[in-house]
Amino acid sequence: MDIILLGPPGAGKGTQAGRLEDEHGMVQLSTGDMLRAAVKAGTEVGLKAKALMDAGELVPDEVVSGIIGDKLDELGPDQGVIFDGYPRTAAQAASLDEILAERNRVLSYVIELAVDEDALVERITGRFTCGKCGAGYHDTFKQPAVAGVCDVCGSTEFKRRPDDNEETVRTRMQEYRAKTAPILPIYEARGIVRKVDGMGSMAEVNDAIEAVLSL
Ligand code: AMP
Repeated sequence: MDIILLGPPGAGKGTQAGRLEDEHGMVQLSTGDMLRAAVKAGTEVGLKAKALMDAGELVPDEVVSGIIGDKLDELGPDQGVIFDGYPRTAAQAASLDEILAERNRVLSYVIELAVDEDALVERITGRFTCGKCGAGYHDTFKQPAVAGVCDVCGSTEFKRRPDDNEETVRTRMQEYRAKTAPILPIYEARGIVRKVDGMGSMAEVNDAIEAVLSL
C-alpha cells in the first residue's frame, strides 16, 4: 500500500511516517530528509537545494521527482511507501502519477493532516532532535527525561533545523497554502483523501491513521 501524508509544515507528517515505518514495516520517503542528506554530503542536488531550503522556498519539481523515482527503484514492488513532504505542487503530483504507473504501483490514500495553523509556529520553532540517533524532542511538549541527555541513546548533542525559525516557517506556510494545498482536489476527485485531525496527541493521530488504513 502506498500513501501520501499531506499537511502544512509541523502537522506531524514526519512523526507519523516514522511510526508507520516502525510498527508496520512501511518505508518513509521524505524529500526533506533526502535533501538535507544531500546538503550535508555536498552533492550537486544539495548545492542547488541549500539556499532555497534555508529561505523556506520549494526546490525545483524535477529535482525532487528525480530523487523520488530513484528511491522507489531501490525498493521491492511489494514494499509499502509513505510519501512525506512529496508531492508539494501540481507538477509533482502529475510526476508522481507517472512514476507510480511506470512501476505498477497504486496510490491507496492521501491522508490529510488537518491542523490549526496558529499552533504550528510554536510546534516547529520548539522542535529539536538528538544529533546522534535522531530522536525527536520539543522545548514545550517533549523535553528529554534528564535535561540535556537523549532518552534513547544517551547522547548529549542535539540539533535544530536551520529552517525551523519563525521567519522561514512563515514562508514555508505560504508555500504550502499557495502551491501544496491546491493539489488536494486532484486526489479528492479520485475519492482517496481521508482527513485526520492532526491536533491530537501523537498516539491519537496514529490511531486515526491506522483506522483509515485498517492496520
Ligand atoms: P520538509 O522537511 O518536508 O519540511 O522540507 C524542508 C524543505 O525542503 C522545504 O522547505 C523545501 O525547501 C524542501 N523540500 C522538501 N520536499 C520538497 C518538495 N517535495 N518539493 C520542493 N521542495 C521540497
